[in-house]
Amino acid sequence: MDKYSVKCLQCGEVQDPYSLACSQSDDSLIRTYYSSEQLEPTDMPGIWRYYNWLPVEDIIEEGSGRTVTYKSEKLASALGLTNLWVAFNGYWPEKDAYLMTCTFKDLESFPTMQRLREQDEKRVMVVASAGNTARAFAHACSITGQPLLLVVPEESAHRLWTTHDDNSSVCLVTVKGDYFDAITLAGKIAARDGFVNEGGAKNVARRDGMGTVMLDAVLTSGNLPDHYFQAVGSGTGGISAWEASMRLAADGRFGNTVPKLHLGQSLPCAPLYSLWKGSDAVDAACPDGIYDDVLFNRKPPFAVKGGVKDALEATDGDIYAVSKQEAADAQELFESSEGIDLIPAAAVAVATLMQAVEAGKVKADDRIVLNITGGGQKRLAEDYELKLLPVFLSVSADDEDAEDRIVTAVMEKLGA
Ligand SMILES: *Cc1c(COP(=O)(O)O)cnc(C)c1O
Repeated sequence: MDKYSVKCLQCGEVQDPYSLACSQSDDSLIRTYYSSEQLEPTDMPGIWRYYNWLPVEDIIEEGSGRTVTYKSEKLASALGLTNLWVAFNGYWPEKDAYLMTCTFKDLESFPTMQRLREQDEKRVMVVASAGNTARAFAHACSITGQPLLLVVPEESAHRLWTTHDDNSSVCLVTVKGDYFDAITLAGKIAARDGFVNEGGAKNVARRDGMGTVMLDAVLTSGNLPDHYFQAVGSGTGGISAWEASMRLAADGRFGNTVPKLHLGQSLPCAPLYSLWKGSDAVDAACPDGIYDDVLFNRKPPFAVKGGVKDALEATDGDIYAVSKQEAADAQELFESSEGIDLIPAAAVAVATLMQAVEAGKVKADDRIVLNITGGGQKRLAEDYELKLLPVFLSVSADDEDAEDRIVTAVMEKLGA
């Protein structure tokens, strides 16, 4: 029997396992179905502990880490909670946490790169990102040597650091514009000969990789939680948590109720919150004013079949919006109580939890998983030199020949 199959959520048809969309319906996500109904952790390194529920046939041995879940004492007691589990994604050697780019984007990049290897893909993979995704793919590609084109808003280039000396398979292009401009440009390039798109939320490897946060939390705590908290931009992590929960519910050993999703966004730039609440919580100047611009995504997969709306409805979940001050206070509380630094986006999840506690949406003894999507960058800098990736090319979003210039230069450097 095959390890897994991939099906369209709209028409139910089995798809090519490596496809990013249904051959019939564009408005639906496709999803992985694993033949092994029970979660059996392996003793392989990093994320590959969850190999059985990842859509891969082999692993990348080097450089992968995984989520580390632990029961919170200090933050929990500060919030009056008794059953708070922190699913930590980042670098924290004292806790055996080794996601080397300090966010859960490493959980997406490794399975995605592994699948490119399986397909013997020689084309240049194109990734558009506000920073953390780009860093995670650069890390994985510096290990595998897969050619990679990163298209990143100029203002995010400071996030493109690496611990590797050799990044010769990676081209970093910066765009004057926002994340949406970067996505648009990357989309055009990915459609050209010699380039391939990584697929974002449509990519089952990205979602199932992020779903390992829930797998780790449930294996460690012993049960499906009542509540799951995460800061979101695209909401892909929320979709992934829901999908992983359904698999765990079907496993039978961890309870059969999927956790409520409590997803957090940062005011005044909260597009998903706006879509969910039917209000307008997006300032014209966005992403200016947001607590962490990795959380700003102008086209999140909200209404698509299997997307954020479906995930919220199926789990009786909700989206919250937190102010900059709430996020800053939450960051301070988390860092001082738990003893590790946060990537700012993760503080939005902590602030979301604080709002939910305040509003009585969670009870003192409820089982809660708090996804700390990124942390430990300061801790990492104590142990490693963080070097900025060199900028290969810098373009402007309304530059007519930007696309051609990039294609020509990148093919010259990385083309097969
Ligand atoms: C990308 C990112 C998020 C948001 O992830 P979604 O794709 O919206 O699930 C949250 N925190 C950090 C640190 C991130 O890098």
